[in-house]
Amino acid sequence: VPQLSSRPGAPFTIYINVAGFDYSGAWADPGDNGDPGVTLGLNDTQPTDTFNATEVDEIKNLWSRAAQSYYPFNVSVTTVDPAVAAGQAGSDADRLAYYDSLPNFMNTIVGSQLRDDGNGGLVKWFSDDADGVSQIAAVTGVAPGVGHHTNFMFTEEQQGSNATNGVANGDYIGAIISHENAHAFGLYHQGDWDNGTLVNEYSLGDDNGGPGSYVPIIGQASDRQRVTWRAGDTGGPNDTETFVNDVEALLATNVATNGRAGAADLHFATDTIGDDMGTATPLPLIGSDVDPSLAKGLIVPRSESAPEPIGFGNYTEGRFSFYTDGMDAVSLTLNNGTNFFDPTMADGVGTLRSFLEIYDENGDSIATGVEDSSTLFTTYMDTLAEGNYFAQVSSFGGHMQDAAAFNDAFYFDMGAYFLTGSGFDVQVPEPGTMALILLAMSLVAGRRLRS
Ligand SMILES: [Zn+2]
Repeated sequence: VPQLSSRPGAPFTIYINVAGFDYSGAWADPGDNGDPGVTLGLNDTQPTDTFNATEVDEIKNLWSRAAQSYYPFNVSVTTVDPAVAAGQAGSDADRLAYYDSLPNFMNTIVGSQLRDDGNGGLVKWFSDDADGVSQIAAVTGVAPGVGHHTNFMFTEEQQGSNATNGVANGDYIGAIISHENAHAFGLYHQGDWDNGTLVNEYSLGDDNGGPGSYVPIIGQASDRQRVTWRAGDTGGPNDTETFVNDVEALLATNVATNGRAGAADLHFATDTIGDDMGTATPLPLIGSDVDPSLAKGLIVPRSESAPEPIGFGNYTEGRFSFYTDGMDAVSLTLNNGTNFFDPTMADGVGTLRSFLEIYDENGDSIATGVEDSSTLFTTYMDTLAEGNYFAQVSSFGGHMQDAAAFNDAFYFDMGAYFLTGSGFDVQVPEPGTMALILLAMSLVAGRRLRS
């Protein structure tokens, strides 16, 4: 199993367990056909210790897809089993007991729910028509019951009815891992409503797919370009449309509201990129090219207590400063998504749709980037007069669901981005400035000698 972690050290952990697990005893929500029993490793029909190259790619896909959903939060999505480092991996029963002792932790078992029925056939232990199952609000605190910190993502629909027809689809499974863990963080389904009537328990999102289409993580979570967090109210224990059931509810997963021992507060994550002109981050370069390993950040709603999906001003920004000597064109591409594997390439679609604007040194807007028809990246290219400039990365400003038959619904444009580009210059200091820099360096050196 590739060893991957999206935010090592974060207080919340979603462990994606693809290597098979023997769940002894009853799980809190009994299935239609018994207890969980033995889940084989991803794509396996027999216990094995190995994955082939195609399977490893799909494990990377499903991890990055789930990691992107939770990247705006102080949550690490990992394939690294914490029971190993803790010396609690002697048996699966040991591991299960250890997982249940951890606050702020979920063990997501990914594999087929098909089991031998004892008559030469196969039966699904939980349900004929489920892609996964999780308890609600199970992630926080120390587990009060058996298997409280374990949920399941079923893969057989993506592998063929007998789990032997091809490799699991990592994009889809990753989205369902995000969905099941949204339940663990306390969310119910988001549906499609027609006035006061719930028409679809799982919202289907926009009427049409393709570029710029959205569907909620906690709805159908598939068949649209972006599977992302939606604002709103739908679902809930009473299926009322006014129940707060979105990132605001998710952020309420904390000590103050649940009172369980050991729980951490869930927050939006932060980045190190400046948010305005005064704190702009110098565009990281390698030679004259943008360094995409460093030129990256995160866009989240500005408010944790009342996150607003619509309006780019309701989101944080990333502000970069750059210099051109005016001799060549500068080219800058704003890519939506994380770049965990290849710094120059997005890992799938991600959750952000973003906007690029160029400002001069007086703070006046001089140009905007051109969004690709895919909606996945935005590019700016021009030859500018010699001088200092700013590139502003902001949220596209939210998306209104395009499904005429149903009540309005609004999606967040939030998540990770990174920059690529070329043609930038490093400003050579004027002689006067150089003298100041040399003076500053000598002071630093002097202080080091004395320390
Ligand atoms: Zn669900």
